[in-house]
Amino acid sequence: MKKAPTKAEREHMSKVASLGCLVCQRPANVHHIRPIGLGIGNRSSHYETIPLCHDHHQGKFSIHNCKKEFEAMYGTEKQLLQKTLQELIRLEESMNLFNFYAREK
Ligand SMILES: [Zn+2]
Ligand SMILES: [Zn+2]
Repeated sequence: MKKAPTKAEREHMSKVASLGCLVCQRPANVHHIRPIGLGIGNRSSHYETIPLCHDHHQGKFSIHNCKKEFEAMYGTEKQLLQKTLQELIRLEESMNLFNFYAREK
C-alpha cells in the first residue's frame, strides 16, 4: 500500500510533473516506479517518480501496458528516474542562477 505523501513529497511530485513527459514533453502526471533494490522497509517512495503524459503513462504504448517494449525503447524505469533527477537538478540550478542575478541588480 502506498503511504499518503507528505508536504515535501507533494512538492517534489509537482516539480517532477512540471518537467513534462520524459518522452514527448507534453503535460505530465507522475508515475511511481517500482522500489529500487532494498529500500528502507518496503514502502514505495513518492520521490521515486517520473513524469509521463497520459499516453505514455497509461495509453496503448505506455509504461503500464507494454512495460518491456517501453523500457527497450526509452530506457528502464531506473534510467528514467536518473534522467528525471538530472532534469530537476538542472532546473534547480537555473533557478538559483536566476535568483542570483536578480539580486545583483
Ligand atoms: Zn504509473
Ligand atoms: Zn508522452
